[in-house]
Formats: sequence, structure tokens, C-alpha cells
Amino acid sequence: MMNRKDKEKIIKKVRNAGIVGAGGAGFPTYVKLSATAEYLLINGAECEPLLAVDQILMQKYANELVETADLLKKVVGAKEVIFCIKKKYTSAVQQIKKASDKYKTVRLHLLEDTYPAGDEQVLVYEVLGRIVPEAGIPLNVGAVVMNVETLLNVHFVLTENKPLTHTYFTLNGDIPEPVTVRVAVGTPIREIVKVYGNGIDEANYLLLEGGPIMGKVVENWDAPVVKTTKGLIVLPRTSYLAMRYTNLRREITKNIVSICCECKECTELCPRYLLGHSIEPHRLMIAAAQGLSRDNPIFRTAQFCCECGICELYACFMNLSPRSLNVQIKKDLACQHIKPEPLKKVFASHPLRKERMLPTRRIKARLELSRYERGCKFVEKPDLKTKVYHLLLSQHIGTPCTPQVKPGDKIKEGQIIADVDKESLGVPLHSPVAGVVTHVDNEKIIIQKT
Ligand code: SF4
Ligand code: SF4
Repeated sequence: MMNRKDKEKIIKKVRNAGIVGAGGAGFPTYVKLSATAEYLLINGAECEPLLAVDQILMQKYANELVETADLLKKVVGAKEVIFCIKKKYTSAVQQIKKASDKYKTVRLHLLEDTYPAGDEQVLVYEVLGRIVPEAGIPLNVGAVVMNVETLLNVHFVLTENKPLTHTYFTLNGDIPEPVTVRVAVGTPIREIVKVYGNGIDEANYLLLEGGPIMGKVVENWDAPVVKTTKGLIVLPRTSYLAMRYTNLRREITKNIVSICCECKECTELCPRYLLGHSIEPHRLMIAAAQGLSRDNPIFRTAQFCCECGICELYACFMNLSPRSLNVQIKKDLACQHIKPEPLKKVFASHPLRKERMLPTRRIKARLELSRYERGCKFVEKPDLKTKVYHLLLSQHIGTPCTPQVKPGDKIKEGQIIADVDKESLGVPLHSPVAGVVTHVDNEKIIIQKT
């Protein structure tokens, strides 16, 4: 274990560099590092189909990643670092294995190609055999989980003093060649699509941010890339999955529960139910169909949903939307300031969990995505002509940033332009370029590159 002074120094650097979990909801990384844990798990599962960020970074930056993980192991006082990688990412496995050979307390755990292998709670169970309680976090069972790109960002700040100003993501789908690029936070999505999207447009294509299964529809292609952007998936509007997403949005405003036949298939395949958590999506559908009041305790179980989408995009043959219902219930409960609380104390995984784990190839086939699974080009310095950057003030879990600049201010590359009170949960925001601030409001700062 590292001494307290050195630990605090690293935590401060990571906070001030604006690092948040890449690809997830943007949880500030410094908070994870402030904890003490038995294990540090590096999440290289990359379980959303069509994405190729973490696997590429593990190939290119294996030494840097292993070295930084070994240091962070000391920061959290862990006895071991475990790189969790899908077996099928052979090249990444080889590189990490080679890089970790000289470290006695760094090892690999190879994962099967199932979905959602990268869900933190599924990962912890697969690797450590421990069940994170419902409404809990991996730390409850002695683990800190960190994504590969986040780890690389920590490396850049600790070795080169570089704050987080760029993100890596994969553009894939109905384009001739998928590409993983490193792009400045604040770049309009439209500019990336213009360069790598082969002339696609909103009229004929749907764009998902995140991944094909857990992604969100991009309503406005001028929206900027944020710290957590991990994937952009292009789908023809006539494709099966694009139509499902379009209908999901319509369904949520209609009665999404009226034709549930209570077959329970959604529950039988739910990864959180299989871990022994109280969630049973079919029961939520029935409760909603019966018009039960949101005060009914059954609705509290929706808060244990990780929104993996298996229930609505794979399990339900009636094309119903248990996930969307859960999302809606979670929002309702959050508005009432009802926090997720465990409903039981002891958890045991389902006896048939192993048999019910969903091979990724099956969900890809069901969603007609298999044809897009191809080798992915890696471009670390894309030739983008971006002049104007839109930096959103809310890109992490916690308190949104408050602007520290005003229109007309000249700023340097990497300068802090917005920050969060030191007592609150959050991290600062940095400019990816040297330029002039042209606009500031409660949601964003716009910078014109000079
Ligand atoms: S999205 Fe559906 S399958 Fe996934 S955790 Fe939530 S209820 Fe379970
Ligand atoms: S799979 Fe569909 S039809 Fe079956 S219980 Fe779940 S929501 Fe209802």
C-alpha cells in the first residue's frame, strides 16, 4: 500500500485532469481511487457488439496500461490487478500477457463471448465469484473496476501531465469500413460522420451513441462528442434494429404493456435476476399493466436494472419494452428522490445462470448486426477540420461544472474552462484546443479554435 501523501497526490492529479469513467455514465475516477479494495479489475470485456476501442488500446498501449494498473493497485491497496479480457480478443490478450509477465501481482482472466460480460456486476461475479448486492457497487465486495480507456487516461496524466481532452470511439454500422478514432471532446458528431460516414444523412440513417444494444438515438447530429462517447453506430432507417429503436420511442408514450403474455422469458434471461437480484422484468410489466401506483414496492426493483436491453431487444418475442419501462420508472422514482435500496440481504445466483448466459453471436444475429463485425481501422490523429467546439458542462455523474471563463477570453489548450466545487462530486472540464470563448451558458461553453 502506498503512503497516504503519495496516494492523495495521485488522486488530486486524476481529479484535476477531469478523468471520468470512459464509456459508462462518467463516474469520476478519483473517487474510485480514494477507496481501499482487495482487487483492481481492469474491464477489457468490450461486450457491446461492433465496438473496438478497448481491444485496440490494449494492443497498442499494453505496457503503459499494465504499468499504470500496477501503480493504481498500490493506490487502492489491492493485492492483485486482474485484466478481464474476452478470449476472442487474441491480440489484446497476447500483448497484455507479454506486458504483465514481469509483474507478480498482475494477471489475466479470460472471458467467454457473452453479453453483457462487461457489466460491472456480471464481471465481478465471473472473475471473483462474488455477488455485488442489488443497488450496490463492486467496492461492496472488495473490488474496484476500471475501464481500459480510463486507465490509459490516468497514464497520460501521471506521465505527461495531460488532462482529459480527447476520447476514443468506434464508428461502425452501415459504412464501408469501421474506424476507431481519437477525437477532441466537443467536436460535433456531424463532422466525424462527414469524414468517415460515406455520405450518410439523417433522412435515411439512424445514429446511435454508445453501442447498438445500450446506445441512445442521436436526435441532433450537431451534438458534440463527450468524455463518455464510446461508439457511434450507423443504421439504415429500414433496418430491423433502427425500426425497433424508432418504435421503442413511440411505444414508450403508448401502452407498452398491454399485450404481455407473462411468458417470463425477459426475466429468465435478465443478467441481474440471474445474479439473484430482486428484479423480475415480467412482474414490472404486469404491475404496470394493472395500473398499480408507483408507490407499490414492486416498482423499486426497476432500480436494479442495468439497462442491458436483453429483455426488450432479444428475449421478448412480442417486441415489448421492459427496459424502456424500467428507465421510465427509474426516472419517476428519481424525481421523488427515492434512492435505490437493497430489498434483501443475501444473494445467490440462479442455478441455471451458466446455461442462460447469452452468447454475443446470438444477439448480433437477432439484431441483424453480424455483417458489420469486421476488422476496424485505428486513426489516432484523424484529419478533421473542426473550428468550433461545444463543451457540455454536464459530462459526469455528480454536480455539473460551473464556467470559469467568459465570452472573449483567450484560452490555452488543456486549460480548465469549468470546474466543480471541491466539496462536490465532479471534475473540471478542459479545453481541447487553444482558442477564444465565443459563448457561455448554463449548459455549454463554445470555443472557436485559433
Ligand atoms: S434491461 Fe432488462 S434484462 Fe437487462 S437488467 Fe434491465 S430488466 Fe434485466
Ligand atoms: S418476454 Fe415479453 S411477453 Fe414475455 S413476460 Fe416479458 S415482456 Fe411479457
